[in-house]
Amino acid sequence: MQHDAIHEPARSTPVRAEYDVLVVGGGPAGLTSALAAAEDGLRVGLVENRSFVGGNMTIGLPVLGFLGQKGNQIIEGLPQKFIDRLKARGGASEHRPCPLHMGITLVEPEAVKTVALDMLLEAGVDVTFYTACVGVVMNEAGDTIRGIITEGKDGRSAILAKIVIDCTGDADVAYRAGVPCEKGDEHGGMQPPTLMFCIAGVDTDKLRNSIAVQPRTYLTDFIPAEYFGQNHQFIVVGLRELIAKAREERGLEIPNERTIIITGLRSGEVWINMTRVKGVDGTDSRSLSMGEIEARHQIDDIFTYLKAYVPGFENAYFTKTAPFLGIRETRRIVGDYVMNQDDVLSCRYFNEAIAVASYPIDIHRPGDDGCTLIWCGDCYDIPYRSLLPKKVEQLIVAGRAISTTHEAMGAIRVMATCMAMGEAAGRAAKLAIREDVSPRQINVKALQEDLRAHGAYLRTPLSQA
Ligand SMILES: Cc1cc2nc3c(=O)[nH]c(=O)nc-3n(C[C@H](O)[C@H](O)[C@H](O)COP(=O)(O)OP(=O)(O)OC[C@H]3O[C@@H](n4cnc5c(N)ncnc54)[C@H](O)[C@@H]3O)c2cc1C
Repeated sequence: MQHDAIHEPARSTPVRAEYDVLVVGGGPAGLTSALAAAEDGLRVGLVENRSFVGGNMTIGLPVLGFLGQKGNQIIEGLPQKFIDRLKARGGASEHRPCPLHMGITLVEPEAVKTVALDMLLEAGVDVTFYTACVGVVMNEAGDTIRGIITEGKDGRSAILAKIVIDCTGDADVAYRAGVPCEKGDEHGGMQPPTLMFCIAGVDTDKLRNSIAVQPRTYLTDFIPAEYFGQNHQFIVVGLRELIAKAREERGLEIPNERTIIITGLRSGEVWINMTRVKGVDGTDSRSLSMGEIEARHQIDDIFTYLKAYVPGFENAYFTKTAPFLGIRETRRIVGDYVMNQDDVLSCRYFNEAIAVASYPIDIHRPGDDGCTLIWCGDCYDIPYRSLLPKKVEQLIVAGRAISTTHEAMGAIRVMATCMAMGEAAGRAAKLAIREDVSPRQINVKALQEDLRAHGAYLRTPLSQA
């Protein structure tokens, strides 16, 4: 006989901790949220379900978003302080201009884990690993969050806080608190995930010089061949003809139209962003498991392709996969303002801007193996209202799950932008606690002043320019 559900007995759940601000998720947004909130001595906790902080900054990706489409630096403040700390130990590159991605900042995953943790501990943040948020504690009316329910080796616990900042990327807290959420495009299709992997022994100078010297053989998307002649740290996107040839000549199964190679900080090391599994829902463990299994199966053929067809890979050897499948898109909250494609493409100013972004709309299409890229030509603002979920008080959301459409999410999702949102969320929480108001009621001008006073970059609204 098949059972649909079982009824667990009611139980009392111990309260493990109480904070002023609780940050859930220690990725790019969670890191800066916690650092900002903890700056003046508030009690700040951070709960992370993995054994390290950094989120997707630890899977071999470059941080995108620091530079705008006009080449100017548009994200400073705490995200820049973090990069400076990484640089001091050789864990990050300069912000390098890139014609396709605007700016790339290479980071070393292990250095990210260590420096992010050091900064959190120095700031007095109480970090708890191996602990997942699986539920919420609400007030009686069900409209105000009071804390979260966690699960770990020690079972279930409650953690209470005056304000909770959801930085899970998946809006795990907001969703459980009853905030309306959306997923994917108009058909519910979400961008496919990728299991990044790392290869060493690559002659990256041969790779870039081959592209620079034989641009017709090694054709790249949007990045002129000369660029590769001048830059030793770079991202290759393209080489579509080589993939077609490998499919035809060897029957290799390459799940991507584009070759995407990211140089690492160490000589001869590159990260490959080419596995791609359609139909994965990153909020469903079975679906995630299917994604991990399928992506891992894809690696052999991709590696064979790189070694046989791409210059510089002749002596390459496989070193490691990233610690987890990289999820591009899951839930987005519906907040007080839903950022949309027009806001991005019209380079819109908002009076309540809390961060500036410039990354193009970049959607790995859910339905096929291609990608849509649309640039706006300059920068656009992220409004504070998009961090405020509908229906629930004392909750702020930062990172890729803020209130946007599928298209706008394709632009605001990059990691420097998520860090900038995190800083704003942490400062907003601090202001709300100081003034004893809800995050929805804070004076946004005061938040902007606080952000600027701490080095963050905001544009002057056109009406005041
Ligand atoms: C394959 C791939 C390639 C990408 N390429 C780039 C790129 O080149 N450059 C770039 O800047 N961006 C890139 N992005 C986008 C970027 O990585 C993400 O959008 C960004 O990391 C989102 O930041 P976040 O802080 O919102 O979430 P995350 O980085 O996902 O961090 C969320 C954190 O919360 C934790 N968490 C989740 N749920 C819970 C829970 N219930 N309880 C406790 N902890 C929880 C997670 O373990 C994680 O540490 C890429 C994304 C993918 C998947």
